[in-house]
Amino acid sequence: MVSVIGIPLDENSSFLRGAAQAPQRIREAFKSDSANSFSENGVDLNNHPDIKDLGDLKLSSMPQAFDQIEKAVAHEVNAGNKVFSFGGDHSITYPIIKGFAKKYPDLQILHIDAHGDLYDSFEGSKFSHACPFARIMEQGLAKRLVQIGIRTFTKHQREQAKKFKVETIEMKDWKDSFQFDFTGPVYISLDLDALDPAFVPGISHYEPGGFSTRQLISVIQNLNCQIVGADIVEYNPNRDVHDMTAMVAAKLYKELLVKLIK
Ligand code: MN
Ligand code: MN
Repeated sequence: MVSVIGIPLDENSSFLRGAAQAPQRIREAFKSDSANSFSENGVDLNNHPDIKDLGDLKLSSMPQAFDQIEKAVAHEVNAGNKVFSFGGDHSITYPIIKGFAKKYPDLQILHIDAHGDLYDSFEGSKFSHACPFARIMEQGLAKRLVQIGIRTFTKHQREQAKKFKVETIEMKDWKDSFQFDFTGPVYISLDLDALDPAFVPGISHYEPGGFSTRQLISVIQNLNCQIVGADIVEYNPNRDVHDMTAMVAAKLYKELLVKLIK
């Protein structure tokens, strides 16, 4: 079973708020009459027996919100379910992975993002959406972190990546023929700003030079590994144009879901 959870938290976003509204808006896009509910490989994901949408978490403010996210995720993971989460800003991936870590001590993460999100702290916060993967790696919550789409490394982040032995394939070095070598359970964390802003106006941080939607769909479709969880984060409806980005998120949701139910 795949449990779908909305995590409406954008308190840890450094630049703009808005991502808290994302879960409901992506669900609406998924159900939009302008498209259908089939993945490209022909699976109808509407009312699928292996998927249950638990709705949005009712969150307190920080720092309690992180405990609530961890507990909710751990509850599903411990029940033997896979978990798909809608963010929220990217800070939520840290408590999500905490919720996975006990059951999956060998968890590997594929992190797709324009940003490394490896800051030790950002603007005075250790829980900023610029920091989740520093928290995850320093606490040993994942055995391996592979990053793609990255095109914003600072000197500090490069040092952090080295310190935590992060395997970063920067966007400037990306080849569509790249083959991942995951063995064992994998979690996919997808920050929509990995895409070029031309494809996703509804994000908070426009970083030119990213993936096309088609490139990213192909990355997901070509994954051949055991995927136990995924998130889509950083959709900001306040910046969207005619729900274009919501539709991209819904499309990626479908392609990820079909991998999770496999
Ligand atoms: Mn991010
Ligand atoms: Mn990002």
